[in-house]
Amino acid sequence: MIMKDILLSQPFLTLADIISLQPISSYLRFYQECQWWPLEKLQDLQNNRLRELLHTACGGVPFYRDLYRSAGINASELRCVDDLKKLPIVTKSLLKRAYPSLCTRRTFWPSREYFTSGSSGAPFAARVDSLTMGEARALMLLRAQFSGWTLKDPCLQTGMSLQRGGVKRLKDLLLGVHYVTAYDLSDKNLDSYLNIIEQHGIQYVMGYPGSIYALADRAERVGFSLGMKGIVTWGDNLYHNYRQKIEGQFRCRVTDTYGCGEGIQVAAQCEMGAYHIFMPHVAVEIVDDDGVPVKRGESGNVLLTRLRPGAMPLIRYKIGDIGRLAVETKCGCGRGFDMLTAIHGRDSDFIFTPGGNKLIVHFFTGIFEYYQGIEYFRIIQTDPDKITVEFVPNDFFDDKILASLEAEIHTKGDPALRINFNKVDNIPLDKTGKRKIVLSNLINRS
Ligand SMILES: [Zn+2]
Repeated sequence: MIMKDILLSQPFLTLADIISLQPISSYLRFYQECQWWPLEKLQDLQNNRLRELLHTACGGVPFYRDLYRSAGINASELRCVDDLKKLPIVTKSLLKRAYPSLCTRRTFWPSREYFTSGSSGAPFAARVDSLTMGEARALMLLRAQFSGWTLKDPCLQTGMSLQRGGVKRLKDLLLGVHYVTAYDLSDKNLDSYLNIIEQHGIQYVMGYPGSIYALADRAERVGFSLGMKGIVTWGDNLYHNYRQKIEGQFRCRVTDTYGCGEGIQVAAQCEMGAYHIFMPHVAVEIVDDDGVPVKRGESGNVLLTRLRPGAMPLIRYKIGDIGRLAVETKCGCGRGFDMLTAIHGRDSDFIFTPGGNKLIVHFFTGIFEYYQGIEYFRIIQTDPDKITVEFVPNDFFDDKILASLEAEIHTKGDPALRINFNKVDNIPLDKTGKRKIVLSNLINRS
């Protein structure tokens, strides 16, 4: 414990910020304070950052300069977040065509490419610099703190990285994170996760709702009786029945959160249930299918503007989710951050395999996001031992991709799963306007 106190002391955390070139702890301190600021002060900060962002994007990023010029807009005249509606919406397809030469920029900070297919089933590459990633990582810690977790509490985290990089391993060591794979959710593996919880006195569990639901379900079936202090979920839709099962089994609140792999953390749920938007980091707009802002309290497409330009500015970026802003702007918890009441359309069905594994949506996105030749995909299970992979190819596609995908799904998931690839022209949107990635006819959802 003395060692941990040293590792978590401010001088050591500052040193870690400098070595990693990611000022995580200084950002975290800032967000811990500003979450309690009044809304007006947060809006002023947002507006200041937005003006700087537009200045940078128009000056140094041909994609935005040309986009706004051809729309006849002088973006430097925009003063506030409410003015964003004057700008064109940016889609993944537009950015993909401009990537990397036209939509990225050099910054002082080192940058790297992150692959994501988010929740829209469209593989996508984004360049993120270490300053931007540092802010996003600080917000990952802040969102976990919404559950009551502190830097000193050990936790179990489910995730899709089979190999943790140096920075992440250092984080695991610093924070007492027991990282376990969500690739394999067989009963044997789930039992080993319950053992880790018991042996290490873990009271916080974090990760994808699907994997934690599977853990809660297994805990119930084997009579595991330990309660938790907090659960934090991200990445998929937390279905009502998932929340009920997890909260009932582990006897604590689930803090759901919302972010995306492009270096944006959007919001986290407070103890009152509202999703508080991390306002200094991101501006959130909700628009209808014609791009017109909807009234607060109405559902629409989520547009994100990351207020730090970073190596690849994202301005009015259509992430592919459906959300709703709260009618109220004041929350009983006292935080000043504006609020979303709902985020829809994130997938959380399972694919069951003949060998007893359960594959969550991130199993597939974690594989497909590296295949830029696939424009969209979705996985459909109608039989216990078989899936159909529907895909829309693009200009980068060649047939070798399919053999490689099949091999990866077999190696990481289950070699006995039969896979049928089906090339299609389009993947239809569901009734919420989303493209669902994983569609299982074998389970109930609500
Ligand atoms: Zn609140």
